Amino acid sequence: MSRYAALVVVATALVANACGGTEITGPSSIGIGFTTGGAPRPTPAPPSPTPTPTPTLPSTFEFVNVDDLSLPSSLLPLWGLRGQNTVEIVKQMVFCNAGITVPGSTENGGLRSMRRVNGPISVVYDPQVFDDAKVAVFASGTRILGDQIPFPISLGTSPGAGARVDLVMNPAMTSQGQWFGSFVAGVFTGGRIEFREMATVKDFVFRHELGHVFGLCHHNERGLMSGLGTGNSTNPADHVFSLAERDNIAAMLALRPGTQYPGP
Ligand SMILES: [Zn+2]
Repeated sequence: MSRYAALVVVATALVANACGGTEITGPSSIGIGFTTGGAPRPTPAPPSPTPTPTPTLPSTFEFVNVDDLSLPSSLLPLWGLRGQNTVEIVKQMVFCNAGITVPGSTENGGLRSMRRVNGPISVVYDPQVFDDAKVAVFASGTRILGDQIPFPISLGTSPGAGARVDLVMNPAMTSQGQWFGSFVAGVFTGGRIEFREMATVKDFVFRHELGHVFGLCHHNERGLMSGLGTGNSTNPADHVFSLAERDNIAAMLALRPGTQYPGP
């Protein structure tokens, strides 16, 4: 009750765009570090009759140019940069830094620790509200995120396993779509995605909001999570995750939720 009451209060900060978004955060604490420290890198467990323990993910990293490496960045406590993905873009996309300059954009909330899903997601819709065409939009969106993460995403008319995401209509809001999420120690624990009207229940709108559910923020480059807002609608290339977005999703999955940006 108190959580959703708080959600309603903060919703007033949303701006008119393809996406608003507000996050409610539970208690979170994580160690900070810049170059060294953090938990040891996961190592393969030796053959044993006992179950393999869940590896402890590192909580700090360094930037590196992965063009110079043969190992994928997901195996290192390092953050791979290539193409449009710069330190500044990572800072925006993953750590929600402000400074979005794309015209018509929505602003990020400001530098904070990394948040992401850390288990199955259950997307729930009301069949009395959304017709088959809209359900197809939801299905393609969940597949596009599901292709990038190791956790299952279910879509149905009743809750499945994992953190629940409700899809609802909200004619009163000004943006095409918006989302709300709750987090505990950087881990997504549930929330909802809202659409203003049926005409705006579009693939890129839903996929963009689902990208926020995973843990991505806006950024200044092209892509599904671009700060372009409604500008995304005219460019089909922005209807799916860009290479930089996919790189950052992979890097986020290799770090502990709650990891802080390593510097000012
Ligand atoms: Zn957004």
